Amino acid sequence: MRGVTILGSTGSVGVSTLDVIARHRGELRAVALTAHSNESCLFEQCRDHRPDLAVLIDPAAAERLRERLRAAGLATRVLHGAKALEEAAQLPGADTVMAAIVGAAGLLPTLAAAQSGKRLLLANKEALVMAGNLLIETVRASGAQLIPVDSEHNAIFQCLGTPTVAGTRPQGLRRIVLTASGGPFLNTPAERLARVTPAEACAHPNWVMGRKISVDSATLMNKGLELIEACWLFGVTPDDVEIVVHPQSVVHSMVEYLDGSVLAQLGNPDMRTPIAHALAWPERRESGVESLDVVRLARLTFEAPDLERFPCLGLAQCAARVGGTAPVLLNAANEIAVEAFLDGRLNFTAIAVVIEGVLNRVASGPVTSLNAVLEADSAARRAAVESIARLEGLASDPVAGACA
Ligand code: NAD
Ligand code: MG
Repeated sequence: MRGVTILGSTGSVGVSTLDVIARHRGELRAVALTAHSNESCLFEQCRDHRPDLAVLIDPAAAERLRERLRAAGLATRVLHGAKALEEAAQLPGADTVMAAIVGAAGLLPTLAAAQSGKRLLLANKEALVMAGNLLIETVRASGAQLIPVDSEHNAIFQCLGTPTVAGTRPQGLRRIVLTASGGPFLNTPAERLARVTPAEACAHPNWVMGRKISVDSATLMNKGLELIEACWLFGVTPDDVEIVVHPQSVVHSMVEYLDGSVLAQLGNPDMRTPIAHALAWPERRESGVESLDVVRLARLTFEAPDLERFPCLGLAQCAARVGGTAPVLLNAANEIAVEAFLDGRLNFTAIAVVIEGVLNRVASGPVTSLNAVLEADSAARRAAVESIARLEGLASDPVAGACA
């Protein structure tokens, strides 16, 4: 029996993980579930899965959950606050942790899971973008198993066949081809992009995901974050990774070897495939995902990304090359800008303007410690908030420079 802690169980990846667990109740068990504040969803998950522990960030929501569990006669212990996420991540009863919190909030619990030497299923790409070297070092020191859940990285992991130590370049690798759907605005003219709405940005053509990653997919920042994620996971440089737009989202990524062989992993775009793979690895388990109908698909297409209409990808490539805390700044500025866009305070095209301004104003440095990461994150958030306030007042930001 594999005991699983899900950090972010009420989100899109969390719900898909519980769906896979429910298909294998004899072999998989949810031991701890965590969420930000959605106590109704967490209550239902506790009723269905009977975990030992449930965590909510919000104390009032945690109290309501406690009451409801007590009234329903359920014995799940309830904790609240960010520190309790780390306790959930290290719970002795679980040998596997699904890291599926969105954004920088997932960094500390993901690091805690890595420290405990468990199998770490990583969906929370922002943790790797911010602190890739610290996370990989921690995984190596504790003997944890790091299995990527992000569909592209899980595809690459599958194409590599034999596992290597986390962060080590695989023998014989020539390059990685990272596929991108292109998002909902793949064919939207540049002049319309400034006026697209949060609802349009969140209507992804192939994947159903949380709102933040949906906007990241629409700006192509998601692919930029995934480039950095791939560099840490597989010990490669940004020049080893080619990004191609593949609108059907069927080829989840490819690996090319020195002899010219190219291996790809294909499947319907459904996160239960990489989740089931990561939970069962090195075995295979039923995920509930339909068979791929290649005859109905008929055609798979690939094209180069348009960096003019999607400048966030170029900014991420720049930050990846600079290294150190530059990806921390990129990620933090992106989180603040995406939140402002979702709140209706910022135009879609201004997301890149804010990030570029932050990358140019806030100096990056080496990642010497977790503190250096957290300080860079705070500085970038402050600069992004200022930049958005200025844009709200002025409707334009004149800053441009190194990453232009
Ligand atoms: P989501 O918004 O649907 O869910 C996020 C989860 O994190 C929720 O359970 C929420 O309660 C919790 N959470 C949010 N803020 C928190 C905070 N401050 N503290 C504690 N918990 C908090 O997001 P998602 O789409 O499931 O994505 C989760 C992660 O997985 C992201 O890093 C995303 O990039 C990655 N990912 C998602 C998909 C996908 O298909 N959704 C695919 C690949 C990678
Ligand atoms: Mg992905």
